[in-house]
Amino acid sequence: TDIKELLFSRIRDVADYPEPGVMFKDITPLLADPAAFTALTDALAEIAGRTGATKVVGLEARGFILGAPVAVRAGLGFIPVRKAGKLPGATLAQAYDLEYGSAEIEVHAEDLSSDDRILIIDDVLATGGTAEASIQLIRRAGAQVAGLAVLMELGFLSGRARLEPALAGAPLEAL
Ligand code: 5GP
Repeated sequence: TDIKELLFSRIRDVADYPEPGVMFKDITPLLADPAAFTALTDALAEIAGRTGATKVVGLEARGFILGAPVAVRAGLGFIPVRKAGKLPGATLAQAYDLEYGSAEIEVHAEDLSSDDRILIIDDVLATGGTAEASIQLIRRAGAQVAGLAVLMELGFLSGRARLEPALAGAPLEAL
């Protein structure tokens, strides 16, 4: 479709970043183009409405850039899921494995309630490790997951298959 072509045309492939052999998908040209950024925001806000989300969770750091305007557009609150050690209040933490080593993400648990249905937003779904940890975090905080929406899915890394059990029927939408 037209919007897919517009979005796709504004993503830049950067070879050997952040390490040799990786083809990084750089979304900064899309962010710099108001027509593309607005189209992306509108498409994600439509998913928020359709899935009955009550709040948007954005994953650090590009999930903040995409998720915050979606929350405003959809009339919903925004909750940041951050890398460990960045949030000042009482947090829930979730560790997850990386290719080499591990990482940890956190959320302010008091911002989530059992009435909440959360749409998780990030820019790129790669292996699915980050998204899987965020789903676990939201459930442990007592909220429901309305869905996961990303700009782009790197299909060859099979993140969608990995996330199937964690999503438990909630939609994964890749624009
Ligand atoms: P995963 O946990 O699915 O392996 O990695 C996804 C996370 O890494 C996302 O937060 C995403 O922002 C980042 N990421 C991985 N690969 C890329 C890429 O090629 N481009 C961008 N923009 N982000 C990436």
